[in-house]
Amino acid sequence: MRFDVLTLFPEMVEANFQYSIMKRAVEAGIITVNTINPRDYTENKHKKVDDTPYGGGAGMVLMPQPYVDAYEAVEKLENTCTIMLTPQGEVFNTKLCDEFSKYSQIILLCGHYEGFDERIREIIKPREVSIGDFVLTGGELPALCLIDSISRRLEGTLGKIESMEDDSFSDGLLEYPQYTKPRNFRGYKVPDVLLNGNHKEINEYRMQQKIERTKQRRPDLLS
Ligand code: SAM
Repeated sequence: MRFDVLTLFPEMVEANFQYSIMKRAVEAGIITVNTINPRDYTENKHKKVDDTPYGGGAGMVLMPQPYVDAYEAVEKLENTCTIMLTPQGEVFNTKLCDEFSKYSQIILLCGHYEGFDERIREIIKPREVSIGDFVLTGGELPALCLIDSISRRLEGTLGKIESMEDDSFSDGLLEYPQYTKPRNFRGYKVPDVLLNGNHKEINEYRMQQKIERTKQRRPDLLS
């Protein structure tokens, strides 16, 4: 899968692919990540990408010309989806992640400062996605959240050790509590059932824990 990220801060995005599982996914050719800087597409001599808002108000707004030209310069594959990261978009979740993982290419538009001139939306007509009801300084972290969670779903990204089978939300529930060595840490013990080797009992215990946890922490998921 190919990700093309429009960002004024490409280094912020690129750094993420120098570590751990995302680095391996790039090296294995499962994902390709390109960054495109709208600043390289400015038509003004000062390479200005933002300006003050018409009508007044604080902050700077991203000008349409560099963004739209940069977007139009991106090579589009057949099965492509363009996503604008914005706190005003539909809130990202496992269902959207699944849907996005079916595309061959995702183009991500990262805002900054006060956000996008409205005409960028009107011309590009992207899907609009938020990662939650809070406001960040830029779209780079949200873009990385999408790339990471989508890439995890692609075959080959996760090895057996990082399997996503039992992850929270995969069956609508939160994951059961996990334990590793030692059996006793400062008097806090691993539940006996996990040590007895009876897989039927372990599975029953884990399912019960998943339901309990979801009931306590996220009753909205059960309904
Ligand atoms: N003025 C905008 C508003 O109130 O809707 C917020 C702009 S925010 C400071 C700058 C950029 O960060 C946005 O254009 C967007 O790309 C990104 N951003 C901030 N919060 C986000 C969120 N919750 N989800 C996705 N992107 C977000």
